[in-house]
Amino acid sequence: MNKQLRRPVIAGNWKMNKTPAETSVLINEIKPLVKDAQCGVVVCVPYTNLQAALEATAGTDIKVGAENCHWAKSGAFTGEISAEMIKSLGVAYVIIAHRERRHYSGETDLTVRDRTRAALDAGLTVILCVGELLWEREQNITMEVIGKQVKIALSGVSADELKRIIIAYEPVWAIGTGLTATAEQADEVNGAIRSLAASLFTQADADRLVIQYGGSMNAKNAGELLSMPNIDGGLIGGASLNADDFSAIVKAAN
Ligand code: PEP
Repeated sequence: MNKQLRRPVIAGNWKMNKTPAETSVLINEIKPLVKDAQCGVVVCVPYTNLQAALEATAGTDIKVGAENCHWAKSGAFTGEISAEMIKSLGVAYVIIAHRERRHYSGETDLTVRDRTRAALDAGLTVILCVGELLWEREQNITMEVIGKQVKIALSGVSADELKRIIIAYEPVWAIGTGLTATAEQADEVNGAIRSLAASLFTQADADRLVIQYGGSMNAKNAGELLSMPNIDGGLIGGASLNADDFSAIVKAAN
């Protein structure tokens, strides 16, 4: 399965949590616990905490990410933040299309495509979230749903740009619910995403593509999920707000 071609990435999604001061505290707790990590470690934090996160992670291998970006470079978009603004701080990653943005903020496949384009143009690495609703899984249309999300988001993305895309498979029914996809369910979808990527790009490109799992991943279930051939790390919500839990997942990825 060529898993050795990929370096797993464990990314925390802090969502709308923590002040800048609390950000420094949590990162300072995480730092010694992940200092020997073999995998990539990313903390994605609210815009207001990016500077504090950059300062706290300086001199470490921990990378900082934002949780969204706008599709325009600049302009009359009150309250929005562009990919270039994020990049100009020294931030390396951005989450795009998180389920909570699709649900609460009217994110569509087309705005996801446009945000992905803006992020790539700005030089950011994108953590692109895809996932099916419970009823879609029950209707056996999981791959149709995810295939559409992936194809639209990646339309116009070059093979070179694909190296700055991480796909996070997050079944919606598993996010923040305590329900986790079984390792087999998650691996099956991740494998299908990889096959789709091979058809859109080349098999070699697909073999290099990092595909995470996200959805109630925690210190207990991470080992089994991360041992699967097509699961290359995780996007971690709740458990990323606790240094011991987050670092245990990082250790499981090692
Ligand atoms: C997420 O927010 O991307 C996520 C997977 O959340 P949780 O780990 O809490 O389910």
